[in-house]
Amino acid sequence: MAAVVAPLAPYAVTSANSRGRLHPERPPAHRSEFQRDRDRVIHSVAFRRLEYKTQVFVNHEGDLYRTRLTHSLEVAQIARTVARAMHLNEDLTEAISLAHDLGHTPFGHAGQDALDDCMRAFGGFEHNLQSLRVVDTLEQRYAAFLGLNLTYETREGILKHCSRANAGRLGELGRRFIERQQPGLEAQLANLADEIAYNNHDVDDGLRARLISLDGLLTIPFVAEQHARVLSKYPDITERAAVHEIVRAMIGALVNDLITTSQARVEALAPRTIEDIRAQSAPLIGFSEPFGDAQRAIKKFLREHLYKHPKVTRMTVRAQEIVTALFEAFVEDYARMPDEHAELARMAHERDGLAAGARVVADYIAGMTDRFALQTHAALGRGN
Ligand code: MG
Repeated sequence: MAAVVAPLAPYAVTSANSRGRLHPERPPAHRSEFQRDRDRVIHSVAFRRLEYKTQVFVNHEGDLYRTRLTHSLEVAQIARTVARAMHLNEDLTEAISLAHDLGHTPFGHAGQDALDDCMRAFGGFEHNLQSLRVVDTLEQRYAAFLGLNLTYETREGILKHCSRANAGRLGELGRRFIERQQPGLEAQLANLADEIAYNNHDVDDGLRARLISLDGLLTIPFVAEQHARVLSKYPDITERAAVHEIVRAMIGALVNDLITTSQARVEALAPRTIEDIRAQSAPLIGFSEPFGDAQRAIKKFLREHLYKHPKVTRMTVRAQEIVTALFEAFVEDYARMPDEHAELARMAHERDGLAAGARVVADYIAGMTDRFALQTHAALGRGN
């Protein structure tokens, strides 16, 4: 029996209502515009490097933990479920999810904060903006244009946050941050799928690394509720299996709530086109109040007990030292970078001054994997 494909909602993004690509191209023969975007993201260098970049744990600490690649796949999987249930564009939400972390530096948030500090005098460093830079200019795979030439809607979804100063320089794409409007629903839900994914996998990874305890987590009513449900179904379950069941139950409950709450809000507004969605002053995709509280409680717990755990902070300090040392060394002498990057930095510097040279250095460092950053730093110490 052929699968019945429900039509997309009238306010979903489609190839037909897309604002298109910066460089016009012929429509793909066998794919939608957004499948093409997704495929371009998957074939990019930055996407492959996500395998060796981390969020909380450094990559070489163990093979058990999430990397940015597995995180991006989890985000895509959650986002697609929500998109399908709400009759939104699944391919677009997948493209956004897979691309959303492409601009992340080595060593997770620690690396990003350090690079932002280094770039303070030169316009700062924002990872969302960097993800956009990766797909717009830094990936060089096509003869006809720089970057991946993705659709407006995928780029809109990648640019989750942006300072007003930077938004002002982005033209049409930056306008919503100034006028306080919203992106399409596919972008909104990819954003929340990201939250669901990282909160729950940090719980999972944190427990397995024994940096947080199940007893501690059970002080959060939402977690205790899922735990009780698991225990009543499987009274003899081992703690390890219980953890998997709890995380699974939490993701399931959050996704269900996200779909029901968002669907009700959309129905109440009865939008006719995507422009009705964009004109809203607040996102339509969201959790109900109790589930929003639950998400915030997990986030708070992770901030206090995992992200500030001495073992994690030690890594954070080390990551900051490495990124800062790399930045200072490369800005002082561009020739310490490989020829191609050194040449780019020199040219940018000559044309537009030190800030432009520093931006090339930041691009080079941001593209590094955890391991490559460690190796490069060690090599600097040896004077190469
Ligand atoms: Mg993410």
